[in-house]
Amino acid sequence: MERYSFRSRGIGLEQGSCFVCGQPQPPSLLPNICAVVNVSERERVIKMFDYKARAHASRNDQVIVCACKDHERSLEYLHVLSKISMLTKADVNASKVAPYV
Ligand SMILES: [Zn+2]
Repeated sequence: MERYSFRSRGIGLEQGSCFVCGQPQPPSLLPNICAVVNVSERERVIKMFDYKARAHASRNDQVIVCACKDHERSLEYLHVLSKISMLTKADVNASKVAPYV
């Protein structure tokens, strides 16, 4: 399985759609991760999130992943994971369900 560098800079607030349920919540801000990735891998990282992540508007080495309040723990899971390992599609899938089983 392909692994990509994905280093969370922490959890903040951004406009966007939840990467788990897809729920857009404008104009309110959602919890988000801004993560540093390899520029050459950025599009593949976004694809790994089924395009529910997006490129940072001005930093092309960063991607933004948002979650709604119901799925904030999925974001925390990703944040912690990004501190200890590279990211795989299996990790993304696990983050969507692991906090709830
Ligand atoms: Zn959600």
